[in-house]
Amino acid sequence: MIQNDILKVLYSKEELAQRTTELGKELTEDYRNKKPLLVGILKGAIFFTTDLAKAMDINVEIDFMDVSSYGNSTISSGEVKIIKDLSASAADRDIIIVEDIIDSGRTLEYLVSLFKRRGANTVKLVTLLDKPEGRVVDIKADYVGFLVPNEFVVGYGIDFAERYRNLPYVAVLKPEMYQ
Ligand code: 5GP
Repeated sequence: MIQNDILKVLYSKEELAQRTTELGKELTEDYRNKKPLLVGILKGAIFFTTDLAKAMDINVEIDFMDVSSYGNSTISSGEVKIIKDLSASAADRDIIIVEDIIDSGRTLEYLVSLFKRRGANTVKLVTLLDKPEGRVVDIKADYVGFLVPNEFVVGYGIDFAERYRNLPYVAVLKPEMYQ
């Protein structure tokens, strides 16, 4: 049972759903009369992107991008590689990047500048989780679900070596699971 690998639950299924509903309402207000392009970053933001889209009461277009940062599994090096690009064009669009977690900020810094280069009208960032202590570049999300301490988290789309993504909550694993 994967539940046995969990040290503590940081955000329950209910807390995630409630905060996502609140963010969806904010985005609905801020993007009224627009048709933003929600860009979910694979794979960590899969569940958050789809739940957030359902919480928005306006027309949105949904797309996904898969990027990987070079480096080991827990530390991002700053170089970003596009594994899967957008299907839609970013030109003249109001882009909302949907991320699972911002740590160093390098992935998002790269993506924001990429969409600006591609001629996006506006680019905003939504992240489910924000780890401000990990930041090495000056980037701030416009919408944040929860602030998290500098701990390695899993669940609700976020993996460790492709495991634990399907946990319905955000949690910290027992230390022995990381070995
Ligand atoms: P950044 O470029 O901001 O350092 O990296 C963000 C990415 O690093 C996230 O999208 C995520 O893939 C990964 N990451 C950062 N912190 C964690 C964490 O606590 N757990 C997991 N599983 N991935 C993390």
